[in-house]
Amino acid sequence: MLRATMMDVPLTVPPMLERAARLFPTVEVVSRRADRSLHRSTYATIHRRARRLAAALVGLGLKPGQPVATLMWNHDAHLEAYFAIPWAGGVLHTLNLRLSPDDIAYIVGHAGDRIVIVDDVLLPLLAKVRERVSFDHVIVVSIGAEPLPADAIGYENLLAGAGEDFAPPALAENDAAAMCYTSGTTGRPKGVVYSHRALVLHSMATAMADCVGHSHRATIMPIVPMFHVNAWGIPFTATMVGATLAMPGPYLDPENLLDLMVREQVNLAAGVPTIWLGVVQKFKEEPGRWPLAPGLRVVSGGAAAPESLWRDIEAMGARGFHGWGMTETTPVGSGTMIKRHMAEAETPGEARYALLMKQGLPLPYVDMRIVNDAGEAPWDGVASGELQLRGPWIAAGYHGGEDAEKWTADGWFCTGDVATIDPEGYIQLTDRAKDLIKSGGEWISSQALENALMDHPAVKEAAVIAVAHPKWQERPLAAVVLREGRTATPAELGAHLEGRFARWWLPDAYVYIDAIPRTSTGKFQKTTLRAHYKDFAWPAA
Ligand code: AMP
Repeated sequence: MLRATMMDVPLTVPPMLERAARLFPTVEVVSRRADRSLHRSTYATIHRRARRLAAALVGLGLKPGQPVATLMWNHDAHLEAYFAIPWAGGVLHTLNLRLSPDDIAYIVGHAGDRIVIVDDVLLPLLAKVRERVSFDHVIVVSIGAEPLPADAIGYENLLAGAGEDFAPPALAENDAAAMCYTSGTTGRPKGVVYSHRALVLHSMATAMADCVGHSHRATIMPIVPMFHVNAWGIPFTATMVGATLAMPGPYLDPENLLDLMVREQVNLAAGVPTIWLGVVQKFKEEPGRWPLAPGLRVVSGGAAAPESLWRDIEAMGARGFHGWGMTETTPVGSGTMIKRHMAEAETPGEARYALLMKQGLPLPYVDMRIVNDAGEAPWDGVASGELQLRGPWIAAGYHGGEDAEKWTADGWFCTGDVATIDPEGYIQLTDRAKDLIKSGGEWISSQALENALMDHPAVKEAAVIAVAHPKWQERPLAAVVLREGRTATPAELGAHLEGRFARWWLPDAYVYIDAIPRTSTGKFQKTTLRAHYKDFAWPAA
């Protein structure tokens, strides 16, 4: 039998930064600080400092396989931690700063974090967490001017005291490198632990021209937070290719984002739809104020986006790109790619927006199927079922073994998303399984109704939820946030939806509210709305 004659080199995270420091030492990582100033670092500097941080962590007693928590915004020091912790043999554990102190404390306890690296501006939040759990070491990064607590270690002091003679531990590609907890919209958050190998393969796949297409020649702005799903892997992938990074720090408002995009001539930016809805609105309000980079590509993902958002993104002169994924999928599973025979989707127009409304094609090595009561559903763009996945960067279980029923006996991960797959292989999510509305035994997609409502010029945001109904079991109720100074009556909104949907899909009632409650990651929190309106009195038929 012939044996392969290739070297068996483990796929680990540190070589990404080592390559960037060697080949692209002067390429910049620009970060917004708490006083809104821009701090400029380089891959050479980040490499040197990450090495010192790794040595310092080992000096503090970090053992292989132990987690180190970070409670930080997107900036250069967080990037240093992203590499230093796995380099030291530890597990980078990003804490979601938008969760309640109670949830964060639960997550810290569940993961077993003993060391935390925290932004000084987030010390008040950490103080609330520390009322519930303790740490052995608290390391404080000064992006603002907050005083150092007496029992904490200053990040700069720690690095200054660390020696240059760091001997990295040997790493195996299946060792744990990072972990992240799900947002916990249902039950307690669950921990997903990423291997070095999964992170490397995910970076290779998302960097492809047919996926996000990260490149050394790009200036990339991850608006998607580094404290949630590894900022879609951008910190790793951008470093791997030696791209310039523009990090927004704590400022995620449209004005500061547009300012950073213009100043640094960002040509690849990634964020959730709520971020982009604000950015396109600001851009429209002040025409001509923001000379964006030519060839700007905008990635939206993490939640469904209305068609109007894709139109508005492209009206800014940018090109839109839609990605789908979850904490359990490292996170990118699929993304927009236009097949070569779909020339009509290359330029702005109906065909392009219809394609952008889909969640795209699965990445190489990500197997997908849709399963419903009748078994595996065909890829005909009509039959829908739960989306199930398999692949080298798809979780095989949760830390601690919870919710094992999310994996099928034949080894697929059940996403809880309901989707169709068309004959070309494009996935289209129709809903979260738990958000579907079951009216008289038939399913209604809340997401399709929301997207259509948000296309109405007077509607800023809309969420459609299932409310118990005496006759139909459940009926759709639309909660609508109007744009300032605009009105739209229920009759007008109903007329806007008519013709787009079967009559029985249309919401039976509309409520007008000031804002849709959000999850910690900016998605609509429909559980809160459902609880609030659970006894809603339907108008008499
Ligand atoms: P998280 O683990 O917090 O990233 O949440 C993952 C969930 O977000 C998925 O299961 C989907 O329900 C939703 N999601 C992510 N990307 C998209 C997208 N492009 N379109 C619609 N929903 C999405």
